[in-house]
Amino acid sequence: MGQTLTEKILSEHLVEGELETGEEIGIEIDQVLTQDTTGTFVWLQFEALGLDEVQTEVAAQYCDHQTYQFDFKNTDDHRFLRSAAGTFGAHFSRPGNGICHNVHKENFAAPGKTMLGSDSHTPTPGGLGELAIGSGGLDVAVAMGGGPYYIEMPEVVNVRLEGELPEWSSAKDVILEMLRRLSVKGGVGKIFEYTGPGVETLNVPERTTITNMGTELGATSSIFPTDEETREYLSRQGREDVFEQIGPDEDAEYDDEIVVDLSDIEPLVAKPSMPDNVVPVREVAGQDVEQVIVGSCTNGGYEDILPAAKMLKGQEIDMKTEMIVAPGSKQASEILAREGWTAEMMAAGVNFSEATCGACIGIGHVPASDSVSVRTFNRNFEGRSGIEDDSVFLSSPEVAAAAAIKGELTDPRDLADELGLDAPGVQMPDKYNGSKTDLIAPDEAVDDELVKGPNIGDVPLKDPLDSKLEGEALLKMDDNITTDHIIPATQDILMYRSNIPKLSEFTLSRVDDTFAQRALDSDGGFLVAGENYGQGSSREHAALCPMYLGIEGVLAQSFARIHKANLFNFGLVPLTIDEADYANIEQGDDIEIVDDVAEAVDSGQEEFTVRVNDDWELTAHLDASAREREILSAGGKLSLTRSQYDAE
Ligand code: SF4
Repeated sequence: MGQTLTEKILSEHLVEGELETGEEIGIEIDQVLTQDTTGTFVWLQFEALGLDEVQTEVAAQYCDHQTYQFDFKNTDDHRFLRSAAGTFGAHFSRPGNGICHNVHKENFAAPGKTMLGSDSHTPTPGGLGELAIGSGGLDVAVAMGGGPYYIEMPEVVNVRLEGELPEWSSAKDVILEMLRRLSVKGGVGKIFEYTGPGVETLNVPERTTITNMGTELGATSSIFPTDEETREYLSRQGREDVFEQIGPDEDAEYDDEIVVDLSDIEPLVAKPSMPDNVVPVREVAGQDVEQVIVGSCTNGGYEDILPAAKMLKGQEIDMKTEMIVAPGSKQASEILAREGWTAEMMAAGVNFSEATCGACIGIGHVPASDSVSVRTFNRNFEGRSGIEDDSVFLSSPEVAAAAAIKGELTDPRDLADELGLDAPGVQMPDKYNGSKTDLIAPDEAVDDELVKGPNIGDVPLKDPLDSKLEGEALLKMDDNITTDHIIPATQDILMYRSNIPKLSEFTLSRVDDTFAQRALDSDGGFLVAGENYGQGSSREHAALCPMYLGIEGVLAQSFARIHKANLFNFGLVPLTIDEADYANIEQGDDIEIVDDVAEAVDSGQEEFTVRVNDDWELTAHLDASAREREILSAGGKLSLTRSQYDAE
């Protein structure tokens, strides 16, 4: 039987296990990526593990989430990251050089390689045939040290693309269509492998828009085969030498198949406040728009901004609407400027931001209250823009530019009819000839020892798992709690990411601002949640801070993949419960796990009896591999890995 592309890459990197769906496998990692909000902790953990040199082919540290450096804490973090990259042998991308996924795609992504990154949109280079997976920072630290990455073998789903996109429809609409069909949970435990005749009609930047936002489906990763389009992209980036022709065997067998006819795709938007709340633009046309932003790791490339620029040339942005362009990388900014497009957009009324995540995580350009913002980003979770009652629509750059010109949601085809606009298409520049001054290679390193400012603290460690786990249900939450709910990514909070006692004060404050103090005052305790707990980012602080506050475990109907791995990594027990039991537990109930937890976890026990208020009992399930059980028993992965290194 032939192999899928995913199976081919995994078999070449397999160090443990077999490629059976649902079985745990260990794979060798070729490349790692970290960004500034997760990177400080990655390097502190790398240091705490006693490791002294990066072992992967490529390790890259980006500074993209907090580049405005509002106070010394951000700048200290960036200096620490530069010093860590220099000390341990990683590339360092300076603040302002761009968003990790964009800069990595431009400089390092390569067909057939594996990558692990401490950011949830790590799968972006799947558009070039790289198998890239987002994980918690500790997994990245261990992979950088040469350790395997463990994961349950996902299902591999064939997404067969037929036809060709019509004018004014874009790659963003393809992934929005996938979200419309499958929802934000539709990709959990899956890798989406794109195949079929439609693939060659999309260039690499279009493919990476789709693989980037596969994360919103909850997918482990998304990947395209390589072809002449891939070679062309790499050649224009000056990296043709890494090209390799790879794809699935003709008789590859997939776990499932989805067919998307590109010629049926029309301009779509995700309505507030979930990326799967997708409708045709025409269904919501006419709604006033006060803000438009083109940018982010999804649609911040030269190829994304150029269509908007072409539409804006000779036009004026509506008087009540602000439009911001935030390029995903300095390379994109520089080429647009050299070609004169920046001036055309400025003349139309666009304001420019530096190449940063910025508004995507509520840092700058917060929308006005009770107003609509149209963004080309990948997420519109409530409050992510920096204001709680926001109303953010996700769209393609074409739909965003149309909204800016018209001042209201508009299907770009209708605007084109009205103004006589030509469809802009999606083109790459002849050469990606941006300068590389902001990317410092290991052999050009500025520092050879760690530089830690006062806001950079120690890594907290947890004791081995107790036999007795009991405490209060300190917080009961609904479905789809995101890591943004657990630890908000806003500037005023994330500046404490290397200072865990301080950061912990903000844990779940968006759900209940008394939670952190109540947790500290309690001696242990539990979180209770509905479906898909921990969806969103790879932010390991969303597990680390509850651990620091003394939380012992989470009872949820289901968990998002990366967050569940992070719970194991920080020694919190993730137990699944059914819907009826979830409904019966109240916040404030006394929870007691009747079993000897330490022994049960060690022995592979899957069902646990949970007594509530000494009154009724429910059965909770622990779905954990032998390795995850070992991690839990040790009090987390850091404690376990340290003890293993000590024993060697
Ligand atoms: Fe940055 Fe937003 Fe992309 Fe995350 S999703 S890497 S915050 S641009």
